[in-house]
Amino acid sequence: MTALSLARALCAGEPLDAAAFETLLAESTEETDALLKGAAVRVRKEIYGNSVFVRGLIEISNVCKNDCYYCGIRRSNRCADRYRLTKQQILDCADEGYRLGFRTFVLQSGEDGALTDDFLCDLIEKIKTSHLDCAVTLSLGERSKKSYQMLFDAGADRYLLRHETATKAHYEKLHPPALSFDNRIQCLYTLREIGYQVGAGFMVGSPFQTKADLARDLCFIRDFAPDMCGIGPFIPHKDTPFAQYPQGALSETLRLLSIIRLLKPNILLPATTALGTIHPLGRELGIEAGANVVMPNLSPVDVRKKYALYDNKICTGEESAQCKDCLSRRIESIGYEVVVDRGDIKKEPVSSHAEE
Ligand code: SAH
Repeated sequence: MTALSLARALCAGEPLDAAAFETLLAESTEETDALLKGAAVRVRKEIYGNSVFVRGLIEISNVCKNDCYYCGIRRSNRCADRYRLTKQQILDCADEGYRLGFRTFVLQSGEDGALTDDFLCDLIEKIKTSHLDCAVTLSLGERSKKSYQMLFDAGADRYLLRHETATKAHYEKLHPPALSFDNRIQCLYTLREIGYQVGAGFMVGSPFQTKADLARDLCFIRDFAPDMCGIGPFIPHKDTPFAQYPQGALSETLRLLSIIRLLKPNILLPATTALGTIHPLGRELGIEAGANVVMPNLSPVDVRKKYALYDNKICTGEESAQCKDCLSRRIESIGYEVVVDRGDIKKEPVSSHAEE
């Protein structure tokens, strides 16, 4: 089948296999992109209207025991200026976020051994009891089942753990031998079993990635059916082994956002900071391709530059209020509206057919 007939099939809600996804990605044209984008926006509108959900991102520590080849806060990066927020600093960020209208807080960090279960459980309980109508999302990497369970029992609602790539051999090119593909995937299943709303995701254009790898990512998203999917372009960081690799493409990221929206119409899909970093209107274009979530930064301004996963990251100089206002204005400028809401996943409508 041609890319055009595959795009039409996807828009009509028909299932595609890995080979079809690969063809669709490899042979995409302006016409297929326009079809996918139009259909993705239609199905997203049916479910979420013009609403865009916001999550306040608090980067709680850039200390990390892992050594992922792509990541600027990897253990071996001696140039990284390490920090860890205190519990009080994190609570202050959440309080400020609440005043600004955030009803979801995302706590993200490197895999920092000092973030013990006791520390995190107390932190989560405090956030949840002072803000009863808020959701807490964690993005703290791989932990034990017991730890995930304790954090859930303390009140955490959601967990973001990008699978990074659904191809084991590719995973092994992006990570040192100490990290295991099987464990990462197992963590996602464990999180779901415990009861979290779970987010998976991957980088677009990471080194050695092929269209077949991306096709497997799409199959994984279709089959695992996460509540959230974080995708953004790979962007090199100068102090990592991947410093010389090119960044992922805007067009391919947008194409994948549309395809993922069509695969799972009600998915929570962020237009990521990485997307905003490779193009001045990257996040707006992401929303217009089918995304429905943005994650402005709520971290204290003095640590923002230090949480440098990649070079030239945007939104590192402004106060939280400015960051929120700027993003709200951007969203409104393209006809959407940022809402004060926990932003939970909505049930899918009975028919998900998008073709008119
Ligand atoms: N330690 C946590 C959080 C990781 S940072 C965890 O392991 O899940 C969040 C995401 O940033 C990662 O999952 C990765 O997909 C992305 N990221 C890291 N380095 C990047 C880079 N150089 N370019 C683009 N995205 C990157």
